[in-house]
This record gives sequence, C-alpha cells and structure tokens, in this order.
Amino acid sequence: MPGLVIVGAQWGDEGKGKVVDLLAEQADAVIRFQGGNNAGHTIVRDGETFKFHLIPSGILHSGKQCVIGNGVVVDPRVLISEIDGLRRGGVDLSGLRVSANAHLIMPYHLLLDQAGEARLGKREIGTTKRGIGPAYADKASRLGIRVQDLLDEKILRQKIAAAMEPKAPLLRDFVKDPSLDLHQMTEDHRAYGDRLAPYIADTPPLAWEALDKGRLVVFEGAQGTLLDIDHGTYPFVTSSNTLAGAACAGAGVGPKSIDEVWGIAKAYSTRVGAGPFPTELDDEMGARLREAGHEFGTTTGRARRCGWLDLVALRYAVRINGLTGLVLTKLDVLTGIDPLAVATEYSGPEGARFASFPYHQSVLHHVRGETVELPGWDEDISRARSLDDLPANARAYIAFIEEQLGIPVVTVGVGPGREEIIWTNAADELREAAAA
Ligand code: GDP
Repeated sequence: MPGLVIVGAQWGDEGKGKVVDLLAEQADAVIRFQGGNNAGHTIVRDGETFKFHLIPSGILHSGKQCVIGNGVVVDPRVLISEIDGLRRGGVDLSGLRVSANAHLIMPYHLLLDQAGEARLGKREIGTTKRGIGPAYADKASRLGIRVQDLLDEKILRQKIAAAMEPKAPLLRDFVKDPSLDLHQMTEDHRAYGDRLAPYIADTPPLAWEALDKGRLVVFEGAQGTLLDIDHGTYPFVTSSNTLAGAACAGAGVGPKSIDEVWGIAKAYSTRVGAGPFPTELDDEMGARLREAGHEFGTTTGRARRCGWLDLVALRYAVRINGLTGLVLTKLDVLTGIDPLAVATEYSGPEGARFASFPYHQSVLHHVRGETVELPGWDEDISRARSLDDLPANARAYIAFIEEQLGIPVVTVGVGPGREEIIWTNAADELREAAAA
C-alpha cells in the first residue's frame, strides 16, 4: 500500500492542507519533506480555523505520526510557538517528530534574507523574508546548524561561530542587533533544544516501518511545482526542490516507496510574488477571482496575482512530477463566471506558439496564455458530493482538464469546509485500501 506524494502543481497555495488533512485520517504518517515556515496551510474544522506553517497538517488527528523531515528547514522559534498554540487548543502532539538532520533557520538567516531583498531593490524575488533561502544556502555550504546540534552546547557554539564568520561583511549593518550575540544565541538555542528534545528523532525509519507494514504514508510537499529551484521559473522560485522527486531525499525513502503522486491545482491560477505568470488577469476578472477565492496569503497576508487555469504549465507539472492524479480545488470559486477560459498554449513575440512550457527565461517572461472558452454554470455546487451532482458544464470543465493532461481528476474541492469535497472512484479506492 502506497507511499503517496502530494505536491502543489502550480505556484503554491493550491489548498494542499485540506486534502492532506483528509488523507491523514487514513494514513499512518504524514511527512513534510521540504520548505520551511513559508508554507501556510489553513484548515477549517468544526468551524475552527487552524493555521500551520511548519507542522504537517495531519496533526489534528490524535496520535498520528506527523514528521518534519530532514529536507525541511526549521525555525525553532516558529516550531515552538506552533507547538504551544496547538497545545493551548487541546491538540494531542504525541505523534509529532522532527528530524535530527533537518537544518535550522538561525537569527542571522532572517537578517540576511531582509538584507538580500533590500539589495535587489526593484528586482527583489518577493521572498517571505523568513530566512529560508539563507538557511538552505548554509546547508549547501556545509555551514548549516542542524536540529541535533541544539542538544550539545559546545558543538552548537562552535558551529554558530563558524557559520557567522564568513557572513560578517554582509551583516555589518546589524552588528548591534542583540539577536546576533554569540553567547545569547547559544543560550537561546540550547533552551530551544530542551523544549524540542521530546520530538527530535531519526525520522526515516518511521516512514520505512509504516511502509513495510503496508500502511499509507503521505509525503506532504510545500509551495508548488513552478517554484521548484531546478525546474521552476528561476530565479523567481523557492530555495528547495518542491517536486515529487524531492520527497525521497527530504524524507529518507527510495523512489520505489512512492506509488502515487497527486498534484493539487486550483481550478484557476494564482501566484504570489514576482516572476512570470502567463495567464495573469490584471483586470476586473482577476480581482473577481481574488475576492471570490480569498486569494490573500496565509503566512504573509499578501494579495495573490490571479488568472485563468494554465494547462500548458499543468501539463509540465504532470510530466516533471510524474503525477498519477490531479486534485482540483476551489471549483466553487468559478461559479457564476460565464464563459470560463483556460489556456491550452502560449503565444510569444512575432507569432510564436508554444504547446509546452518554455525552458528559457526570456521566452517565459514574454509569453501569454492563449485561451479557449468553456461554458460556465450558475448553480451552487458546494453541496455536490459526487461528480454526478455537478452541473453538466462543471463536469465538462473537469473532463476538458483530464483530456488535456492525460491523468484523472481524483478529487474536486467545492468549498472551504472539510466536507465540501468530491472523492472520485480513484480516490475512494486509495482511501479504502488504506483503511483496510
Ligand atoms: P495550501 O498552502 O496549499 O494548503 O493553501 P492555502 O491554505 O494557502 O489555501 C487554501 C485556502 O483555500 C484555505 O483557506 C482553504 O480553506 C481554502 N480552500 C481549500 N479548498 C477549497 C475549495 O475547494 N473551495 C474553496 N472555496 N476554498 C477552498
């Protein structure tokens, strides 16, 4: 029974949290494998809204193993405050585990992130300034501090000093910042170590055990395919690999442990921050999608750029992740828009046409989505629980996507609530097998 990877198929914020939360009910373990606290998941449950930035969504299920994998970068302050918040909310945290090998976001990473964006000025990438990029940079430079280092004061102090030394010129503007004091930083982080000690573990064996027993393990990605540092719209990307393939390295399992790969996509497109967005609607329709879909970031509150569904980019996401199914979220947001449009190819300067996602940055920055129109629907779809409950035009919209992508739509979101979802046969089979 499957290792199931869930990744964002667009630019993030696709509504992964809700789907992972629902699948977590059947899973033995949910493992986050990359990113940091720039991911934001919102889960509405019994009328109560929970927001997570770091802890996997499955935590609301009592005792479920929820793992922050080695591929994640962890800001210990954020993790501790999430733990405290969940505990106050009466959530059982006994299943929470943090990989001892995960790298830490340190105070100097936050400052470097701010300084880096300020230096870029108008060319800024639009990072969330949470220190995630600088933390991954230190990991690659072999200057990273890992979760396990929190437990040894001597090692911690040495490593912090070594990591800060080459950064001195970049941190010159912050020399007086109290958060950069070596002694204080070491003390603080030792204290974080004490707080986190019950959760620190060698995490890959947790995944192996569950997989060996034939149990469902959900590997939870953050951000989205087009923000992948290798295959996304570089440099307007995040600082880790967001693709399904990264689940293996970021959680410590082999590729053969992955049976299913589901991509999550909204029924339209959004993007936060700078960078190319071929189907962007810089007009009233864009504003309408933003309002209807509440397209403002969970973590930052930033307004998201909105546009039509981009099937060129989604076909790319299918290939580069090896998607076996698509979860289509927020179909309800399109209710009342007639006609709808979806991009099936791009046009570029001098009449150029692109049926597949252009690899070249200069090309990508200048292409526009060429759309076809599809008829919309007016009926409230939030109570639909099977595809048959949907209006014919909504079914046709889904069928068009399936035909264009060559994979089945396995689940459809019809509203923000947990129950506002359609599981198709493919999804039911997986859930039933996991529950067996
Ligand atoms: P994530 O990071 O991919 O989980 O995405 P976010 O949490 O930033 O955004 C998901 C938001 O969309 C949350 O507020 C959800 O409640 C909401 N949401 C999820 N699925 C649906 C859906 O099918 N319809 C509507 N209207 N909202 C949804």
